[in-house]
Amino acid sequence: MAMAPSDSLTGRGSSSTAAVQATNDDATASKLSCVKKGYMKDDYVHLFVRRPVRRSPIINRGYFARWATLRKLLLEFLSIDSGCAKQVLSLGAGFDTTFFQLKEEGAAPDLYVELDFKEVTSKKASLIDHWSQLRDKVGPEASISTARGEVIGKHYSLCPVDLRDIQKLDDVIRLAGLDPSLPTFIIAECVLIYLDPDSINAIVDWAAKTFSSAIFFLYEQILPDDAFGEQMMKNLESRGCPLLGIHATPTLKAKENLFIDHGWQRVVAWDMQKVYSEFIEAQERRRIERLELFDEFEEWHMMQEHYCVTQAINDAKGIFQGFGFLKE
Ligand code: SAH
Repeated sequence: MAMAPSDSLTGRGSSSTAAVQATNDDATASKLSCVKKGYMKDDYVHLFVRRPVRRSPIINRGYFARWATLRKLLLEFLSIDSGCAKQVLSLGAGFDTTFFQLKEEGAAPDLYVELDFKEVTSKKASLIDHWSQLRDKVGPEASISTARGEVIGKHYSLCPVDLRDIQKLDDVIRLAGLDPSLPTFIIAECVLIYLDPDSINAIVDWAAKTFSSAIFFLYEQILPDDAFGEQMMKNLESRGCPLLGIHATPTLKAKENLFIDHGWQRVVAWDMQKVYSEFIEAQERRRIERLELFDEFEEWHMMQEHYCVTQAINDAKGIFQGFGFLKE
């Protein structure tokens, strides 16, 4: 098979690109599994899943923790009284439904922008076009093109791009309507770790230079070298989507350095074990821990040690003091 131009950037074959895109279907199906069990509320994710599956309690709990953390940080960002419009930029957004859910709750930012490979954005654009409950949320003025894999609206944009193609990112965010001077919450959830270290550095650097008032939320794996980590690496390699970036940032300290070395002012990285016990609301934990029989405690703790959230901040407007983990 001929290599797509985007793959020639790193020499990565198109089969691995397809495998990384497939992780999106996996994540979406897992979120629906959580919704059905009552872990979280999401009125839209079912529209993106063709074949619903039931996940094990440990997977459900892991996705809940990931979802609850992003949601808490995002809502904190959206509640800051900055005196100006706010934006969200999701890198490798896949079929994430956060925009639709926030819109439903009357909590959406002024502009929400999602980027992914064209194969993914085309499917998402076509689903948005198809389902009136999604189309209504992006607004009547939004133009939807399945062929281009694009939705361009006043409050929501979806654009195709290969994130490794840094030159294109500036054009894409302009097309999407983002204003780099406004407070921006950047999401990279299980995305950058699939890229080669040079591309990761370039993206983090580009984001720091582009957005002077921004929170960068990074959620991904760490600790590839212990027994659990080796197994995790093997599983992903056998699915054709190795974590190309993990050896450059294998620890919490390394994730923090990634941001400090590439233009970010403040950064803090916590593993999900700490995030779960110290950041997610105790009441929420008690609620979800009653949903299913759960006895895989050892496995659960190990799994949570192998995922982390890195929160980086550039605070040109002085509005992010004590934000998120920094408050704890
Ligand atoms: N962030 C979403 C999806 C995670 S799956 C969530 O947490 O649910 C990873 C996504 O990153 C996939 O949709 C994949 O297509 C996208 N992705 C991976 N590498 C990319 C690249 N180089 N450019 C654009 N998107 C990419």
